[in-house]
Amino acid sequence: MDVTVVGSGPNGLVAAYVCALAGLRVRVVESDEELGGGARSHSDLETGFVHDKCSSVHPTAAASPIFNAMRLEQDIKYVYPRASYAHVLDEGRAALAYRSLRDTTAEMSGDARRWRQTFDAGSGFGDSVVRASFLTPPLGPVGIPDKLRLALGAAARAAQPFRTIEADALWTGLRAHAPGAPRSIASALVAVSLGTLAHQKGWPFISGGSAQLTDALVKRLTELSVTFALGHTITDFRELSSRAVIYCGSPRGYVQAAGAQMPAKSRKRFERFRYGPSVVKIDATLDGAIPWTDKRLREAGTVHLGGTGPQIVASEQGVAQGQDSEEPFVLVTQASNFDPWRAPLGKGVFYAYAHVSSSAKPVEVSDRIAGLLESHAPGFRSLVRRWRITEPRQLAHQNLNYVDGDICTGEISLRQLVGRPVVAFNPWRGPVSGTYLGSAGTFPGPGTHGMAGWHAARTCLSDLFDRQMTLDLIEELQ
Ligand SMILES: Cc1cc2nc3c(=O)[nH]c(=O)nc-3n(C[C@H](O)[C@H](O)[C@H](O)COP(=O)(O)OP(=O)(O)OC[C@H]3O[C@@H](n4cnc5c(N)ncnc54)[C@H](O)[C@@H]3O)c2cc1C
Repeated sequence: MDVTVVGSGPNGLVAAYVCALAGLRVRVVESDEELGGGARSHSDLETGFVHDKCSSVHPTAAASPIFNAMRLEQDIKYVYPRASYAHVLDEGRAALAYRSLRDTTAEMSGDARRWRQTFDAGSGFGDSVVRASFLTPPLGPVGIPDKLRLALGAAARAAQPFRTIEADALWTGLRAHAPGAPRSIASALVAVSLGTLAHQKGWPFISGGSAQLTDALVKRLTELSVTFALGHTITDFRELSSRAVIYCGSPRGYVQAAGAQMPAKSRKRFERFRYGPSVVKIDATLDGAIPWTDKRLREAGTVHLGGTGPQIVASEQGVAQGQDSEEPFVLVTQASNFDPWRAPLGKGVFYAYAHVSSSAKPVEVSDRIAGLLESHAPGFRSLVRRWRITEPRQLAHQNLNYVDGDICTGEISLRQLVGRPVVAFNPWRGPVSGTYLGSAGTFPGPGTHGMAGWHAARTCLSDLFDRQMTLDLIEELQ
């Protein structure tokens, strides 16, 4: 065997594909009994209803340079809601960020110009964001103009916030995608990236559920004779006989598997890597669409709740300090409003999660989520058929990469954006010879995009097998 890929999330499957396409013999080892990591869907609440287990909304997949080079859209279909995301304010009043920048700013009174300046995907800024977010590692000379553009955009907006309650809530909701640190520069970088993608491409669902992405990747791997070993957890690299290991588990798992082979200095640096807060996730089956007071919300794929910008900041800071708010930041997705394959006609699936501290009581959080929904969508409770709570410890148990329930596989801070998992010009080359790192715990970080797997595979091919892979070549080989 030439390469063992550990972990079968989107990053692991991409890494395996790139190595197999280069002509190597590749094996994927996965601790779960099922492939896909965060990109899985099940019909386990009720027959005919499809729930995304983790990843559901896919701006990073649609923008991913490797997925696009692989022409994945031949096998999966993205479904784009008219509004990428929305934010619910008091009494059901909402603000919406449509795919169209023009439609979005048309509904903004005082902040239209600022919004355009911040998220102007069309002016070449969108391409800069994609390159800086996915392609060029934060350190090093490559892509400096793109990185600067993104950093300056984020810094400018962080220093001079939006003026209206609506735009500020939309912006703060975006920042909350970096959990627990709503005022940090890291959260502003995340917000500018995600907010720009919302207008450049949109925030789509994958028709039929995110497992379709895994199925499409696995099909390609099978055609290239990649083999799979399920139900096996790698805890020691010495048990692997292949020439290279691409480790798509967490940085903590890497340290464990490296054991005594890891130089003490590197171990210390890896042990400084921190994990962030967790979530309580709810899945439900519904007797219809969510009856939002503001009817425009039916057009939004993702809906954020949690009050005004300052209220979100307070609750997110509370989570970081171990105190859960009565009104947490909640992210709701409504895939069945756009994708007929998610639920029987006239029915719906509900997916939501709230950021929580390690001391949160999941049942209380679940009640708060239901209460918030009822107040902004009266009649919501009566539509619920089945309701399931997934607690942080269950998330951690279901996927080793969600250390302590952290769905980002590592805190999103400036230090951990620049150095993920550690500060290095090439963060994908592991400190143990012949090993590479390719999970969400490595740059570019969380999200379904496969880019950490791409970078790790490319580095491995060049280091050990003298093969140079480029995105253009991948595209040509399709
Ligand atoms: C509730 C939730 C909601 C999310 N929502 C979104 C979303 O809407 N959009 C989005 O883009 N992202 C979302 N994410 C994040 C996204 O799922 C992840 O960032 C993404 O899946 C990371 O891909 P990965 O390949 O690095 O790891 P994962 O997909 O997490 O897969 C890692 C795999 O490696 C296996 N593994 C780990 N260690 C070992 C080992 N030692 N031996 C063998 N196998 C091992 C694990 O079992 C797992 O299958 C969400 C995550 C969660 C949990």
